[in-house]
Amino acid sequence: MEALKQKIRQDGIVLSEQVLKVDAFLNHQIDPALMQQIGHEFARRFAGQGISKIVTIEASGIAPAIMAGLELGVPVIFARKYQSLTLKDDLYIAKVFSFTKQTESTIAISAKHLSASDHVLVIDDFLANGHAAKALIDLIQQAGASIAGIGVVIEKSFQSGRAELDGLGYRVESLARISALTHGQVSFLE
Ligand code: 5GP
Repeated sequence: MEALKQKIRQDGIVLSEQVLKVDAFLNHQIDPALMQQIGHEFARRFAGQGISKIVTIEASGIAPAIMAGLELGVPVIFARKYQSLTLKDDLYIAKVFSFTKQTESTIAISAKHLSASDHVLVIDDFLANGHAAKALIDLIQQAGASIAGIGVVIEKSFQSGRAELDGLGYRVESLARISALTHGQVSFLE
């Protein structure tokens, strides 16, 4: 997606060879017009797949997921991060290792929002080593729902997530694929 790549080149900050900061348009300040284009592009790529729900993870997956949900006309569920699980709700629960915080947290979705009849599109802001995506897949499988694919705004293709999800047989659609973050520069795969 050319507009996204341009925005990354213009406003992305290479923090290290592993981490790209996109606080100017995705992770803190949000560019609504770009999010709308992102939602449109996800909807175009997953059109006609019978998607009934979108699942993402708080907080940074929510903006692109909502825009895709608006385009596809389906509800968006964001998995919530919990410090402690003293909730009374019936929950699907998974552990996720955070790439940016380097800590493990627990995420959950209320069972009332997801069921075996759902066909789900997973959306997230970044794909690095695939921990967030695999935890979301775990929650969806606990509900007995099926998975249409995984939509990622920014894939860092030099990390292991893409290959792992491909290996598990999931369709992964990434709107920008980064091959390297070297010398403070972003290089794209395609
Ligand atoms: P994974 O679980 O695939 O290892 O990492 C994906 C998650 O970590 C995303 O939900 C995203 O929030 C965060 N993340 C991974 N890499 C980056 C990065 O380079 N920059 C930012 N801002 N977040 C990242």
